[in-house]
Amino acid sequence: MDYDVLILGGGIIGCAVAYELSKYSLNIALIEKDYDIADDVALVNSSIVYDGVECEDTLMAKLEMMGNEMFEEISRKIDVPFKRCGSLMIAESKDDEDKLQKIYERSVKRGIKNIHLLDSKQVYELEPNLNISVSKALYSENTGIVCPYDLAIAYGEIAFDNGVKFRLEEEVIDIQKITKGFRVITNKNKFTCKMVINTTPGQNYSIDTSEKVYKEKSNLSYFLLEKDYKGNFNNILFTLGGLKRKIFTVPTVQGNMMVAVNTKNVLGYSETLKKASELIGNIDENKINAFYQWPFYKDTIIIDESLVDKGYIKVVGKHYGQVTMTPSIAKMVCETILSNINCVLKKDFIDKRREFYRFRDLSNKERNKIIKMDKRYGNIVCLCQKVTEGEIVDAIRRPLGARTVEGIKRRTGVTLGNCKGAECFSKIATILARETDKKLTDIVKDSKNSKIISGRIKEFDDL
Ligand SMILES: Cc1cc2nc3c(=O)[nH]c(=O)nc-3n(C[C@H](O)[C@H](O)[C@H](O)COP(=O)(O)OP(=O)(O)OC[C@H]3O[C@@H](n4cnc5c(N)ncnc54)[C@H](O)[C@@H]3O)c2cc1C
Repeated sequence: MDYDVLILGGGIIGCAVAYELSKYSLNIALIEKDYDIADDVALVNSSIVYDGVECEDTLMAKLEMMGNEMFEEISRKIDVPFKRCGSLMIAESKDDEDKLQKIYERSVKRGIKNIHLLDSKQVYELEPNLNISVSKALYSENTGIVCPYDLAIAYGEIAFDNGVKFRLEEEVIDIQKITKGFRVITNKNKFTCKMVINTTPGQNYSIDTSEKVYKEKSNLSYFLLEKDYKGNFNNILFTLGGLKRKIFTVPTVQGNMMVAVNTKNVLGYSETLKKASELIGNIDENKINAFYQWPFYKDTIIIDESLVDKGYIKVVGKHYGQVTMTPSIAKMVCETILSNINCVLKKDFIDKRREFYRFRDLSNKERNKIIKMDKRYGNIVCLCQKVTEGEIVDAIRRPLGARTVEGIKRRTGVTLGNCKGAECFSKIATILARETDKKLTDIVKDSKNSKIISGRIKEFDDL
């Protein structure tokens, strides 16, 4: 057999499963079709870590509750910032109040602790900048925020350092059952293995029996506001949709705020601006850093173990709280694998991410110290975000290093400032070409079809 376990898909779930399994004496590989891991994880820098209060589906609520409880320990261990900022679910009308009461009772029944019903006075004391008329709110101390791609990359890096082989740019074409395991066919290779964990959503291979994943979907339109936006909130805020729209705001791990509108139909920029202003007051458009639109999924996540006796597990579905559920899903999948395969805990497992420096967060004394060590930390490439050449080179050279400009952005924060990369984009691409020994014309922004430069200008070919 080539491998004991093959993990298909390098999203946050695949990387977290790789991390959990890398603690054991197993020969593991992860196959990802893109240039980088965590490429399809929510592209914004902060995800809500839910606590099961908002979730209609009891099973999904349970996965959220389990995941939420694990976040403190896992984020500390793998060095990813996580903040338990709390949340307010806001009622604006009598109808909303009834809904809120039911949500509260359901949450108590689910055993969720640290939740409180507040009257409007208490809500305004917590959030004086609120622009809507609040009648009641459900306050949760449990909810938090985490950077989703940082979490996925940290999981991946530790798994890599503990021996998991990452086969990037390799697309799974089919999975076939063979006498003692599986044959996984990719566009480049054929591998045999004892067990397969399939986390590629929506893909169906010869082995799959369950079909068509139901996608319950709405649309999310949101603004990322500048750090100096006046009127930020401390808690995550959700409205209940009494005025036929659901709005929420999220303080991000980097210190700015996101405001999002969740609707059945896709909203344009101006409509989003109008709706978002209902919650936070008139938004100064000069303080909008970015506008995103994204589908918002609400499938039931299924850990399909119907073929586990044969060695096949599939994680099916897309859900808006999947980042929250990741630690619990990974743990459950890992436990199932362990009860089906012979292995022991590794004595030399390193449960730690390799160190890195964030120039913008260091004191001048610390900055001088690292510049003395490597003068590239003294060359600031991204002026808005204060990211140095040293950090960019580290992002490329570290385990599972970045191979695209997007990968560098996710690892360092370059181009996320005011100028959106107008000043530094070409410098970053040039460093990437130099460090990976590629031509600048071969450097891509993100996916295979995103070349930055299509070719040299013909007239200059002879120069
Ligand atoms: C806008 C937005 C906001 C969100 N906000 C939150 C939030 O606040 N809180 C929260 O908890 N969650 C949130 N989520 C959910 C969460 O980000 C995603 O659901 C989660 O990242 C999905 O992870 P995954 O690993 O299951 O799937 P994916 O990230 O889709 O990973 C699957 C991987 O498989 C690879 N792949 C696919 N086919 C193949 C193939 N044939 N061969 C090889 N590789 C293949 C893909 O390239 C991909 O990398 C949000 C999602 C979105 C979109």
